[in-house]
Amino acid sequence: MTAMPEIVVPASSLVVLVGVSGSGKSTFATARFRPTEILSSDAFRAMVADDEADQGASRAAFELLHLAARRRLERGRLTVVDATSLTRSARSSLVALARSSRRPTVAIVLDPPLEVCLERTAARPGRSVAASVVRRQHDALRRALADEPSLASEGFASVHRLTDPDLAVNLRIEPRRTADTVRGTAGTIPGRTSRADRR
Ligand code: GDP
Ligand code: MG
Repeated sequence: MTAMPEIVVPASSLVVLVGVSGSGKSTFATARFRPTEILSSDAFRAMVADDEADQGASRAAFELLHLAARRRLERGRLTVVDATSLTRSARSSLVALARSSRRPTVAIVLDPPLEVCLERTAARPGRSVAASVVRRQHDALRRALADEPSLASEGFASVHRLTDPDLAVNLRIEPRRTADTVRGTAGTIPGRTSRADRR
């Protein structure tokens, strides 16, 4: 049996989820992070247009998403972007804004088999995404992973790819450094190792 992979996320980092529709981004984010840590493109579309599927609202939605990410990272708050992030330009603008606050960016690529994503988007209650769109997104992800320079060289501190349909991974958030730990008078504060611990 192979050990479950581990992802270590620095406390003040930007986490960029990358994946096609139905790859499980929102489910993963909700299960692993606090609600306030998650910036979802769907939620920002809904905020500006009352419709999370309104693609015409994407520009305004991402303006607000980027601003929120910037303000959080300035404060050193762990921030998770739940959007497809399948284009190099989408990813590079996120890496750049984290860098301007001197925060690392971690990419987590959710990459279960295409068939799983197609089944899940078709079965998902509420908004459905056409199979042709999911296939196009899947092609874009294949290119992002294969092209040179590849996604791994886009400025991320680390890139993790999860291919298991259940996205099984041990996700560990590094403890936040306190004034005490910076002065070296104490060890690290108790780790925020699981979502339950962190509530
Ligand atoms: P997103 O489009 O990438 O945000 O994908 P979602 O998180 O909305 O997931 C799409 C559908 O797949 C939803 O109906 C989820 O309930 C389901 N799903 C997501 N992750 C998992 C998983 O790990 N296991 C199972 N069985 N279903 C999942
Ligand atoms: Mg989603």
